[in-house]
Amino acid sequence: MHVSTLQRLFPSAKFDEPLKRYTAWKIGGPADALLEPRNAEELLEALDKAREHGIPVTVLGGGTNVLVRDGGIRGLTIRLAKALTGIEIVDRSVIAEAGVLYPVLANATAGRGLAGLEFATGIPGTVGGAVYMNAGAYRGETKDILDWADVLRDGEVLRMANADLDFSYRHSILHDHPDWVVLRAAYTLYPGDPDELKARIKGFRAQRMNGSPNRPSCGSTFKRPPGDFPGRVIEAAGLKGAKVGQLEVSPVHANYLVNLGGGTAEEALELIELVKRKVRERLRIELEEEVRVVGEP
Ligand SMILES: Cc1cc2nc3c(=O)[nH]c(=O)nc-3n(C[C@H](O)[C@H](O)[C@H](O)COP(=O)(O)OP(=O)(O)OC[C@H]3O[C@@H](n4cnc5c(N)ncnc54)[C@H](O)[C@@H]3O)c2cc1C
Repeated sequence: MHVSTLQRLFPSAKFDEPLKRYTAWKIGGPADALLEPRNAEELLEALDKAREHGIPVTVLGGGTNVLVRDGGIRGLTIRLAKALTGIEIVDRSVIAEAGVLYPVLANATAGRGLAGLEFATGIPGTVGGAVYMNAGAYRGETKDILDWADVLRDGEVLRMANADLDFSYRHSILHDHPDWVVLRAAYTLYPGDPDELKARIKGFRAQRMNGSPNRPSCGSTFKRPPGDFPGRVIEAAGLKGAKVGQLEVSPVHANYLVNLGGGTAEEALELIELVKRKVRERLRIELEEEVRVVGEP
């Protein structure tokens, strides 16, 4: 797709924009066109145009669980972390737009005396990304409290109930449909005391501060293997501190592969393969990536 066509169709986008500026890992080649729509209308209009002209679309939320490869992303990349940030709370029912950050939603609901989303405080992504990933922490998961999500599929908005989203550990039906876009999600929460809920959130935050490396990463790189923890397994395989280029298995938490500065996706992928291979050889455990890989090599 020629850049001038993208410029004509999406005049408010940024072109040839390095995506490392938009990912938690600070890694990622350029997007042909990067659009941060200001509202739902602009998003729907852009998706319609892309469909009409056969332009591939990639959706990013906060970029906190993606590895964008060094060749970047062709076609249109839409980033929702700054857009679609509305929250509506009526009694125990909460509707949040796809770009709302999970920690913001955790605070907003706790402040209104609604319990259930405190776990979201340490998950730095958006509502859309959390539905996609069935994000969770501290024994709470998105699937436990989500009622439905409005999903744009082939130009139409469909309200998908929790059961239709096929949730399981760090998985949803969206993994099989990269062209579907979550627009908003609804949750039913439980009555709680705002002060107690805020204290719980504060506790979770403190735990995070102590146990997480202070370097760019995608959080947990690997999913939990059956009955175990990836951090423990990787450490037991003797891999803490292992490096490929500027990517390192964090000495603080071995499931975090951190970017020491200027790291590339190629290095990250090589380190991921190295960890998987050594853990397989030394412990006969098969690790599976949690992080989603997008873009061109
Ligand atoms: C420091 C750190 C700590 C973390 N801790 C946790 C944790 O405790 N628990 C946990 O579960 N995760 C954790 N994560 C990972 C990450 O925050 C979650 O997976 C989060 O849900 C990803 O949301 P995002 O908006 O950043 O999605 P992105 O990383 O932008 O995208 C992830 C996937 O979701 C898709 N997607 C995003 N938005 C939409 C949408 N609106 N519609 C359709 N598809 C969409 C993307 O295409 C991509 O495939 C952590 C990450 C970091 C960096």
